[in-house]
Amino acid sequence: MHDYLVRATGAQGRVRVLVARTTDLVDDARRRHGLSATATAALGRALTGAALLGATLKGAQTVTLRVAGDGPLGGIVADADASGHVRGYARNGAVELPPRADGKLDVSGAVGSSGYLHVVRDLGLKQPYAGSCRLVSGEIAADLAAYFRRSEQIPSAVGLGVLVGPGGRVRGAGGYLLQLLPGRQMSPALQPPPGADDELARGLEDNVNALGGVSRWVAASVTPEQLARRLLGASPRILGRQPLAFACRCSPEKVRELVAAIGPGELDDAVASGEGVELCCRFCGTKYHYTAGELARVLAGAREAPPSGDGDDGDGDGKGQITPA
Ligand code: ZN
Repeated sequence: MHDYLVRATGAQGRVRVLVARTTDLVDDARRRHGLSATATAALGRALTGAALLGATLKGAQTVTLRVAGDGPLGGIVADADASGHVRGYARNGAVELPPRADGKLDVSGAVGSSGYLHVVRDLGLKQPYAGSCRLVSGEIAADLAAYFRRSEQIPSAVGLGVLVGPGGRVRGAGGYLLQLLPGRQMSPALQPPPGADDELARGLEDNVNALGGVSRWVAASVTPEQLARRLLGASPRILGRQPLAFACRCSPEKVRELVAAIGPGELDDAVASGEGVELCCRFCGTKYHYTAGELARVLAGAREAPPSGDGDDGDGDGKGQITPA
């Protein structure tokens, strides 16, 4: 089985169900970034959350999830597009914490339980749509559910899980988003009777509690469709399936623009010393090498034609970190 996401509805369209299997893409992130087991679980949950949010987008729209907690991971960024491409990083991804008393990985200890969850949707409009909410637990799923309730007023249940096996390999990862859609979005004929939403919500809550952690189900090869059925307590109406993969939007051309934007000054030393630089994309770990000669040519080009500076590219690739080669 490969990673994919199922979009479905239930209860005559009153419930939106998104379920994702993300085992391979989370393991890909772990290998790219050399993540500790705890960081794998934390970033894996954020990547899965971003994938679920990405499934609510269209066309070239993107969504970025930023978990800015006060824990030793130092912040997590995960983003996704409508085509199932997901990428992200943890600032201090090698940080490992001892497991909790119950034997589980201490994600909230690594993320921190104080801070903010920021959700930025770039819908292709002039300004991206941004919302934030205080972290309620640092476990990410509960924080995302709180974000939906508080910032977007949508009753939501979110489950995100990563099961890390011996040697750090990801044995199963996945997640779901269950949302009770507001009645006004439906035709009058489908309006539920008074109190029906409460009853529906209670039923869904029971199903969520009965399901428990999602990663063990995924590790046991239970499909997103089967999980959607368990969550609804009935057969879902499947609207679509979407393959998911870790994929970055960086490229040699974009990195060259970044070098040109950094400009002379900061990079002159690297040219003068004849050593060149290595730029590493934070999102995917891809390294771009520049010899002193190439760097000098890029910088000379930048001096002749300074970047226009309107920065409408705006997909966050400007987060490369520079380390001397
Ligand atoms: Zn990249």
